[in-house]
Amino acid sequence: MAGELILVVEDDVKSRKLVHDLLEHEGYRVAQATAGDEGVRLAKELVPALILMDIQLPILDGIAALGRIRDDPATRSIPVVAVTASAMAQDRNKILAAGFDSYQRKPIDVREFAALVRRLIDARAEARGA
Ligand code: MN
Repeated sequence: MAGELILVVEDDVKSRKLVHDLLEHEGYRVAQATAGDEGVRLAKELVPALILMDIQLPILDGIAALGRIRDDPATRSIPVVAVTASAMAQDRNKILAAGFDSYQRKPIDVREFAALVRRLIDARAEARGA
């Protein structure tokens, strides 16, 4: 199934463009937010198939934004992937403990990243009986 909507929440222009271009190349539609609060607002408004969330974000960080997304029944089941430069094992555990579905290090590995996105989108479609 192509053309699913993915929300990218990322304040760094270069990282956002890279992810945007990669996802579009893979055939997805892409919505973008540059701050955590905007990410939460767009998640509720658009209910995307997947959210890619930076951790260090203005106004509301990625972990707080995830909390708000999980608090709302309308957005609770959307898979959310943390995309962050914090590569240390301790940070990784903290991020996964916060409730993210997966974790992706920056700079991203293009092929690994595309495969992860596909896997999560397919798993969600299956869970919904699509
Ligand atoms: Mn950031």
